[in-house]
Amino acid sequence: MERRTGSRGECASKIARIRGLHRAFVANFGRKSGHLSWCSATSSLRKVTRLIFASDGAAVLFMTFFLASGASLAAQHHPPRAPKSVRLYVFDCGVLKGLDPGLFHFTKDQVQSTEMAVPCYLIVDPKGTLMWDVGVIPDTAFKPDGKPVTRGYATVTQTLKSQLEQIGYEPSDITYLAMSHYHSDHTANANEFAASTWLVRKVERDAMFAPKPAGIIDPSTYSELKNGKTIIIDKDEYDVFGDGKVIIKSAPGHTPGHQVLIVKLAKTGTVVVAGDLYHFPEERFSDKTPTFEYNRQQSLASRAMIEAYIKKTGAQLWIEHDFIANSKLKKSPRYYN
Ligand SMILES: [Zn+2]
Repeated sequence: MERRTGSRGECASKIARIRGLHRAFVANFGRKSGHLSWCSATSSLRKVTRLIFASDGAAVLFMTFFLASGASLAAQHHPPRAPKSVRLYVFDCGVLKGLDPGLFHFTKDQVQSTEMAVPCYLIVDPKGTLMWDVGVIPDTAFKPDGKPVTRGYATVTQTLKSQLEQIGYEPSDITYLAMSHYHSDHTANANEFAASTWLVRKVERDAMFAPKPAGIIDPSTYSELKNGKTIIIDKDEYDVFGDGKVIIKSAPGHTPGHQVLIVKLAKTGTVVVAGDLYHFPEERFSDKTPTFEYNRQQSLASRAMIEAYIKKTGAQLWIEHDFIANSKLKKSPRYYN
């Protein structure tokens, strides 16, 4: 039953209640609205407001509608419009400090830097997006204070998600996920991309989901990929978007299904993002391979094959963990195109 109310006090208490709901709305959805001062603005507006909020039921209905439309607005996230040519973004996914170069058959004096970069990459093609390698410490390890997180040799200062958000993307926007290999310094945020299509080789996937996965591996970081959309790559070169611009190429040895990423950029030219084909630039043109290599002979063959590809195409080689080279790269929100 409609109940006409007229007292200033009742109106004020309704507005106070609505203000409370408004604060909750802003807290939840981060949107601000200045419309709630209307009741006290003018006497005529007061009359209108009294009519609208003539009963508690109407006020509740109104706020339900208000909150529901706000929620649907917040849910309507749209990723940025696809660019006309391919872009390559480099994210800072951390650093490894204090690793013994002896693990790679080097002494400290033989390498320019013992620190290793941990980058993540987003490739934005006119036809979709690809995340390549997803870090060493999961975003979920960050505390609300946002301070850097250190685990073992690894330190991460910002989340991958925040870096994606900075350029307008959410993990759910990403079409494809691929990792150079399963080592835990490349898989940390894989579960965030469980809704993407995972591009992986059978031998690599089999090793990742073996009853007792061996080596430098953290199955908890990629467990949700097991039942997700997956494309098993069964050829040397896989053209991710079908336009010949973004190619995943087999380069086994470091792990059974290790692979590298070839991105053909309009201005920058061709870039080979080399996974862990090498760790230090000093490994290049040497026969030194890590002490923990899955198959050293395969690694040497993969290196020879990629070096031949580079010689033939004039591509740049990006060694992901190369600290000095990585420090010189443009970082997101800047990009290579
Ligand atoms: Zn690595």
